[in-house]
Amino acid sequence: MGQVAGNLDTVPFFSLEQSHTPLRDAILSEVADLLTSGSFINGPAVAEFESAFAGYCGTAHCVGVASGLDGIRLALLAAGVGPGDEVVVPTMTFAATAEAVTQAGAAPVLVDVLDEDCCIDAAAVGEVVTERTRAVIPVHLYGQMADLAPLERLAQVAIVEDACQAHGASRDELRAGVAGSAGAFSFYPSKNLGAMGDAGALLTDDAGVAAQVRALREHGQRAKYDHELGGYTSRLDTLQAVVLLRKLPHLDRWNAERAAAAAFYSEALVGVGDLELPTVPAGSRPVWHLYVVLTEDPDGLAAFLRERRIGTGRHYPRPVHLEAAYASLGHEAGRFPVAEDVAARCLSLPLFPGIGAEQLETVAGAVRAYFGTRRTG
Ligand SMILES: *Cc1c(COP(=O)(O)O)cnc(C)c1O
Repeated sequence: MGQVAGNLDTVPFFSLEQSHTPLRDAILSEVADLLTSGSFINGPAVAEFESAFAGYCGTAHCVGVASGLDGIRLALLAAGVGPGDEVVVPTMTFAATAEAVTQAGAAPVLVDVLDEDCCIDAAAVGEVVTERTRAVIPVHLYGQMADLAPLERLAQVAIVEDACQAHGASRDELRAGVAGSAGAFSFYPSKNLGAMGDAGALLTDDAGVAAQVRALREHGQRAKYDHELGGYTSRLDTLQAVVLLRKLPHLDRWNAERAAAAAFYSEALVGVGDLELPTVPAGSRPVWHLYVVLTEDPDGLAAFLRERRIGTGRHYPRPVHLEAAYASLGHEAGRFPVAEDVAARCLSLPLFPGIGAEQLETVAGAVRAYFGTRRTG
């Protein structure tokens, strides 16, 4: 998901340097303590982080797992999803959302997204629900929470939130990851809260779901060597919990820095070329995991910025239904026009906590220069 540190770009697409430098000594000394203690599996930091993150999100239970993908997959399994079931997924997402469904043994049923926020189109969900539909996975894409209210009218269907890009986001007083039956977070390093490797969590208010996932993440054990279920090796590493505990207190500030950068772009780039800037529906408080603009030739703009040592990303250049891994679902190009249009025109601008005012000016200036060149050329 882009370069991390030690990058020579004038404006890297993403950097953790500003976030990590002040925490470096504290993290290293706690990692050294962990090395001495040797409690790498289910060490005390895991439960401490789980309770801190549950408190931050405002939910009863947090279960640390190995990745965001596993958070979604284990949430589906705990909701009783299995072979023969269908799970509705927006086609504009990172592939892991659909992967979680197939790994749970069920069939992903793809739907289009809304123009306004690139999140799941609830009306389209209504059209594909059958008696086999067991769950819907709204994805809070780019850090903006999907509107869950219209989905809550679907009876008998679990709502498993993919909150992997939305740590701290909210909409209409609902908080991302805790508004559905269960919510999954990824702590992949470039996420709004990132570990020093792969990590994830599942949040729920349901004690039964939490207990089930605690068993599933550890070989199906409810107690040592009491294998009631078939499970997985999907614990949150103590090492990652140590890092996450140190970083969590800074999350709101980092999100505010992302939001300030987004606000800068939204002011500086208004009316520039053919750019369509992200919009924020009333009542939504996004956490700006990504700042995605739409333009006719995103590769042309990216190449122009690259020459000026400005990094960019594409999220995502192909919707799930056009990926080879999901060809068997049988969807042709043209099936989901909103998602396909976003995929064809999206470009993610540099955005990370601590991005400097000068760096933002540099990006905005270069984007303006690109469109200026195009007009005269
Ligand atoms: C990152 C991400 C995931 C998967 O997270 P991993 O920790 O990499 O497994 C799932 N869904 C979305 C939308 C993501 O951005």
